[in-house]
Amino acid sequence: MNTETTPLPRVLIVDDMASNIRVLSHILNEQAEIFFATSGVDALALAREKMPDLILLDVEMPNMDGYEVCHVLKTDLMLAQIPVIFVTGHSGVKNEIRALEAGAVDFITKPLNPPVVSARVKTHLTLKRQSDILRAQANLDGLTGIHNRRSFDEKLDEECRRHRRYGSPMALAMIDVDHFKRYNDNYGHQEGDACLRQVAATIDACAKRPGEMAARYGGEEFAVILPASDLESARRFGDMLCKAIRQLAIVHQQNESGIVTISVGVASLTPKDDEARQNLLAAADMALYMAKNAGRNRVVGDAIPTQAAAS
Ligand code: GH3
Ligand code: MG
Ligand code: MG
Ligand code: MG
Repeated sequence: MNTETTPLPRVLIVDDMASNIRVLSHILNEQAEIFFATSGVDALALAREKMPDLILLDVEMPNMDGYEVCHVLKTDLMLAQIPVIFVTGHSGVKNEIRALEAGAVDFITKPLNPPVVSARVKTHLTLKRQSDILRAQANLDGLTGIHNRRSFDEKLDEECRRHRRYGSPMALAMIDVDHFKRYNDNYGHQEGDACLRQVAATIDACAKRPGEMAARYGGEEFAVILPASDLESARRFGDMLCKAIRQLAIVHQQNESGIVTISVGVASLTPKDDEARQNLLAAADMALYMAKNAGRNRVVGDAIPTQAAAS
């Protein structure tokens, strides 16, 4: 692997004794970017800020000991994926079991043996890198590389809950490629796939404001979550999408305009209850259906049938 282009993994060393931090830093200097904290509280703050790939955690510390720090890490959704190796002067099966039960992946005893520390850290950094890749892949669509339906569903849930708390409106755009069956029939499935990749990349590039997320919803359908967005701005977003796809100018002779176009349905609501998610999806879907019926290659966002979606 080319270390010039691959950033070094990040390791957070937590120990109340500066001399221990020095020894560990010295051992790991070459294989990782090192951060350190001398208390549990500082360690948690630094972990949130730096999102390290591995934490070496001293067990015996005043105020908040290693087990407590590990417990907080493992119950925090954002930090739970960071592997923790306990470093302690107390060896023995009982301590080891307690460390593993607290959620640690490994256990290193003092006095430190540099080659052993280095090898264990290397192993856990490799595992972390692999699990990061798998986690990322699980949320991405294999054909287009943008978010898949599963991460879309998660994000939509999360945004509905967040906007319900704030009492502010959010919007959803549902997108469907026009007459795509004809495109496949005319140019073949391979070309169809290439077309979907281009359309996906374009939609993804349009969804660049903070919190916006574009996903492949299924087949030749895509969806974009638009946080803090009312119907009017969602409609403008839909217009921008239609334009951006037309500008690709992908030839499609069996489509009315001779190039690939999309239809977009948008809806906006301020989530008030558990039905909000379903209402938003149904309203955007209905708007998309109307866009198709009205002649395709357009955005529809004013015909919202559900009361909840009208707010
Ligand atoms: P409309 O304008 O009403 O949306 O017409 P349409 O032909 O796009 O709609 P229909 O639902 O009849 O056809 C969708 C087509 O999308 C059929 C299917 O073969 C194609 N499709 C779905 N997923 C993929 C894919 O991953 N790759 C390719 N190449 N085609 C796909
Ligand atoms: Mg200590
Ligand atoms: Mg479709
Ligand atoms: Mg279609």
